[in-house]
This record gives sequence, structure tokens and C-alpha cells, in this order.
Amino acid sequence: MSMLSTGRPTRPETAVGAGDPATLTGARGLLQQEPLIFELGGWDKTGVDLPPVPDGLGADDLGDLVRSEPIGLPGLSEPEAVRHYVRLSQQNHAIDLALYPLGSCTMKHNPRLNEKLARLPGFSDIHPLQPVSTVQGALQLIDELAHWLKTLTGLPAVAMTPKAGAHGELCGILAIQAAHRAKGDAARTTVLVPTSAHGTNPATAAFVGYQVQEIAQTADGRVDLADLEAKLGPHVAAIMVTNPNTCGLFERDIREIARLTHAAGAFFYCDGANFNAIVGRVRPGDLGVDAMHINLHKTFSTPHGGGGPGAGPVVLSQALAPFAPIPYVVHGVDGFELVEADARAFGRMSAFNGQMGMFVRAYAYMLSHGADGLRQVAEDAVLNANYVKARLSTVMTPAFPDGPCMHEALFDDRWLEGTGVTTLDFAKAMIDEGFHPMTMYFPLVVHGAMLIEPTETESKAELDRFCDMVIALAAAARAGDAARFTGAPYHAPRRRLDETQAARRPRLKWTPPAPEAVAAE
Ligand SMILES: *Cc1c(COP(=O)(O)O)cnc(C)c1O
Repeated sequence: MSMLSTGRPTRPETAVGAGDPATLTGARGLLQQEPLIFELGGWDKTGVDLPPVPDGLGADDLGDLVRSEPIGLPGLSEPEAVRHYVRLSQQNHAIDLALYPLGSCTMKHNPRLNEKLARLPGFSDIHPLQPVSTVQGALQLIDELAHWLKTLTGLPAVAMTPKAGAHGELCGILAIQAAHRAKGDAARTTVLVPTSAHGTNPATAAFVGYQVQEIAQTADGRVDLADLEAKLGPHVAAIMVTNPNTCGLFERDIREIARLTHAAGAFFYCDGANFNAIVGRVRPGDLGVDAMHINLHKTFSTPHGGGGPGAGPVVLSQALAPFAPIPYVVHGVDGFELVEADARAFGRMSAFNGQMGMFVRAYAYMLSHGADGLRQVAEDAVLNANYVKARLSTVMTPAFPDGPCMHEALFDDRWLEGTGVTTLDFAKAMIDEGFHPMTMYFPLVVHGAMLIEPTETESKAELDRFCDMVIALAAAARAGDAARFTGAPYHAPRRRLDETQAARRPRLKWTPPAPEAVAAE
């Protein structure tokens, strides 16, 4: 297939399945082919009318700042711009379309009440540089959300400014580094991370400058205590453990993990991305955790995955609290105040106060659920995952068959042996059936992993629709219908992309076609 300079096919890629004629336009049903916005837009169009430049104000006023070349933005009318983005959105999956079973990602419904409240002008139309006396309500909301995060985790402090889970990890590890430095302890150069960890954990530790050492895992998917104990020592700054872990299992020995870590003088960083499974049931502070990020965009339902920015506040123990980043909100004599300078703070994670819009949504979610509702969130998330695990274990091989899982069900690929179908093929065939695949090949400790997280927001009917589809596809794989899988997806707007090239040689910038090429066409 011939490619443009930007690496896109020059002609629409047509998908052909059995008895499925290619269309003349490359569109599929009502799904249209969509070019890049730069290819669509022209200089002759605009969606806005700008008033003429007032008399007396001209390019002269800008001195040498006057732009010498055109800016190159595509010009589109309003309907063209609207259609472009709606068409793109139709080629993608969304939580508003259907179940989104990506394990570890917690793709749950975003309640519309949250959206309504985030759009209140008092929250959406304010600026972080306004005088604090004019944004007291917003600061109060940050303070109350902080209160609930501390209450739910049983930890005394929280840094609100990190803007995602990975950003929260960075905040927590920087606080840990600052605490060791404050004690004059420079010998701690290593962070221990279990083999099943999310990639962001070792990446965070390495980014801060630590050596990363792996902790082995037991046959039943938990941290190997003997290996942890052997690797702990005066060179270890922290351990980073996810709980429930990325195998969807509760770390049974978590208190012992904390005790051993503290006895070695290290801190316990907990990756709290899976807090959804235990919120309202377990307080991480009671388990001995020193720092933990909370993905508001997972546990507390704020949009993510293309739907909005994340937010990753980090709760901190007494020992780490003094090193929390600026700015933070305090109760002052005249109301809420922002602390912008603190000699003990390790620094700043964010220009301002964090993701305000996400704070409003998360707080709305907490208030609308209440304490009992939040506990039920965890209970229903775990119940749904176990329902899926039980139904699918009839055809697939659960990675850890003994006992229940937490909020996600993990399968390996032993059940596909001899079918000629891989985990990737199976996932692609799910797209043809109208379902977004589960997380694949993660965690790495399980061969051909398939990690399914239904979340609590799916009904039994929807879970059954999903399980029926997987069971039917599994039967097709067993029956020798490998072509259904190895060529899939047949019906998606795009077929299999060259993911290696996309990762290794991403082309992130559009370059206009050379003028000769345009003339020759
Ligand atoms: C999602 C996730 C992260 C990273 O969170 P982001 O908000 O995507 O940066 C880290 N650890 C685990 C276990 C996760 O599921």
C-alpha cells in the first residue's frame, strides 16, 4: 500500500471479510473515511468573523514580533469542524458506547451529575491567578475533597496537585527521597518493585534516579516475602507495591510487607490505582502504607482515556507529610489560603492547584454515593469481576484459579493452545463482535495475559452479553475457525496497524505535501 509522507495510506484502506464487498469510498456503512484536519482545511474558509483591526493599531506595534510566515492552521467552517470531530469519535470506542473492559484502567461510567456540577460558572469560569478571596468556594471544595481522601485512606495528609497516576507516583517518590535526605541518609539508592508492577512504577523510580530491583512473585500471584526480605537493606529507599495487585489479587501479606519495609528503614509506596476494589472497605493507612496515589479518574469516575485529564492526588503518612509539594490549601484567619512557599516542600508538581474540574467531578461522585454507596462501589466491582471470572472459566484458563479475584479477572492463554489463535488475534476478533478488548499481555508475569475489569457500573445483562460473546468466540477458536481471528478485525474502520513502527518511528507532526506533488496530482 502506498503511504503519504505522514505515514498514512494514500487510498482508503478497505476491509474485506468473507462475502463482504469493498466499498467504493472506503466508508463502512455510515462510518465515513476521515482525512486529517490539515488535509481537510483550506485557507479560503473560516468558522469565525474577526472584526477589522482598529485604526491606530497595526503590525508596527508588534515590532519584531510580527509573524513572518503563515501559521498554517487549517481553516474550516463550523459544520466541517463539528463533523470532523464527530466522525473521528465514531471511529473510536467510548465508555458512553459500551462496556470497556480494560483491566487496570477502571473504565467506569462518568455520571452526568458530575458533569453538570463541573460546569457551574463558579467552578468553570474562574482563574487560578484570581485573588484567593474571590475563589473561596473552589478552595473549600479542594479542602473537603482532601478531607474525604484522607478519611477514606486513613492517612493524615494529601498532595492534591499531581495530574495523573504516574504523576502521583513521581510526587510520592520525590517526597520519600526528600524524607531520606532530611535525615541525612544518602545511602538509599534502590527502589524495589514486584515483577507484576504497572510499567509506571519502575519508570517513576528510574526517573527520580533510583536503581530498580525486582521482587519475585509467588505461584499464587503475590509478593514473595522471602525474596522481599532478602532484597531489603540500608540501600533501599522504598518499595512500590500495587494493592490489589495487577493480577487482580489482594496482597494477603500486606501488613507483613509494610512491617519488613519499615524495619529496613524504607518507605512503603502503594500504587493505589486499584483503590476502586477496596474503597470504603479497607483504609490503606491501616495497612502501613506511607504514600499512595489515587486515580480520581479511575476510582471516582472522572473521565479519562481521551475523555479528559486525569488527577492523581497522593495521600501521605505523618513522616512524609512535611515534604508535600506546594501549593496547598490551609485554613487561614480570613478563610482558605494557598501556601506557595514552604522550605521543607520538595518542590512543585503543577503550576497551580491541580485538575480543578476533576476535583469537582470526584467530589460530586463522593457526595452522591455517600459512605455506604462508596463501600458498595467496591463490593459490586468485586462481585461483577467474580461473575465474569466464574462464567469465563468454563472456556478460558484463569491465571489464578484458586479463590475469588478482586475487581478484575485475569486469564492466561493456555486455553488457546493448538488453535492457531493468539491473545492478540482473539482481542481483534472481539472488535468485530462490537466489543472493546480487555487489557492484553499485561501483567507480564502471566503468559498471553487477558485482564478483564468490568467495573461496578455494568448490569448483569451487560455482563452476560459480554460473556456470551467471549464464549461464542472461544467455541469458534476451538472449532478451527482460525481465519476469523488471524485476519481480524474485518469490520473496524482500520484493520491491523503496524504497531511496532507506530511506537518506534512515530510521526507526530504533519508536514504539508511538497508543492510539486500537489501540482502533479
Ligand atoms: C492506571 C494505572 C497507573 C497510571 O495511572 P495514570 O493516571 O494513567 O498515569 C499506575 N498503576 C496502575 C496499577 C494503573 O492501573
